[in-house]
This record gives sequence, C-alpha cells and structure tokens, in this order.
Amino acid sequence: MKDLFKGVKKFCSSDYSKNKKLFEELKQSQSPHTLFICCSDSRVLPDLITKSLPGELFIVRNIANLVPYWRESDEYLATTSAIEYAVLALEVENIVVCGHSNCGGCRALMNPGSTGKMTHVAKWMELSAGARERVKSKSGEHCREDLIEKENVLLQIEHLMTYPFVSERSKAGKLNVYGWYYDIGAGAVYNYDWEKKEFTRI
Ligand SMILES: [Zn+2]
Repeated sequence: MKDLFKGVKKFCSSDYSKNKKLFEELKQSQSPHTLFICCSDSRVLPDLITKSLPGELFIVRNIANLVPYWRESDEYLATTSAIEYAVLALEVENIVVCGHSNCGGCRALMNPGSTGKMTHVAKWMELSAGARERVKSKSGEHCREDLIEKENVLLQIEHLMTYPFVSERSKAGKLNVYGWYYDIGAGAVYNYDWEKKEFTRI
C-alpha cells in the first residue's frame, strides 16, 4: 500500500505538472473517442498498450471482458449502463472489445467446477459458455486456452450487436467495432480482420 501513496505523490509532482494544460482542459468535460471493454486483470492496461492520454478512452472492465446481451431490466447493470452512456451520451466513434492471454475467467470456462463458492463469477461466465462450445466443436475437448479467449471476443461482439443503438450506428457507419487480443508475454496486440476471419498483429 505504501507504494500506492508514493505513486500518488509522484503523479502529482511529475505527471500532473508535466500535463497540467491537458488536465485543466479536461476538468469540465470529456470527449473520449473510444469505448474500450477489457478484462479486470491487473496485467491488462488499455492506456498503456494504446499509449492513450486521459480523456481518450472510456473504459469498462469486468471479468473476461464480457458484454451481457441487450435486455430491458430493472436490475443494477454496470456494463450495460456504461455501454449505453458511452454510445448515447458520449457518442464514441469506436468500441474495442479486448481479450487477453492467460485469462482466469476463460480458464474457469474450461474447468466449470473451479469457481467453487464464487457463484457470481460462475453465473457471469455463463455469458461466455458459447465460446467454449464453439471451440470444442472445432478443436475437440482439450482445446487451447487462447482459442477460447479469442472466440470469446467475437462472441461478446455478437452480444454488443444486440444493443439496438450499437447495431444501428454500426450499420450507418457512425460506429466502428473492433475485436482485439492482447498477448501479455509477447507484448503483442492483434486486431480481428473481418474479411480474413483471423486475428492479425497490429
Ligand atoms: Zn481476463
């Protein structure tokens, strides 16, 4: 914890001072160009891997970068409301769904019993079960973890397209939707090529 306090002091004396003008410009409003949906994993840092500055990315993080499908509901829906706000209020131009290597959420998919007492995690990961089934049907029971992680990105984009305002804007060419995959150990980021139907390195 000491390091976090030290980090804040360093931010104030160094980073903030160096970018004071930017922070002052941002104090009243934000106009991010991209909604970035990624995993809560501590190793996945959207600002770092895209070299973005404050104000550029509107970030939604949750376990395994999942997107609940669209539904009317009176529950408290964090991811759904963040998507709604990013698209309808902030009018972002892009949405990136970014998966990553060695994802604990996706690994739990391969070992359904491993969630134990974490009933909410198990329930949440049901949103990704289709990815596991698709990969299994192509590669067999003992499929590679990265194939599920990548398939999961594509499945979540399908869920995203069930949001009426996302599909409308996407069809009208006002919103670009990307599927990314971040390989932590290799420091490589891949973008899904919709024509080639494969992830290609950026
Ligand atoms: Zn993850």
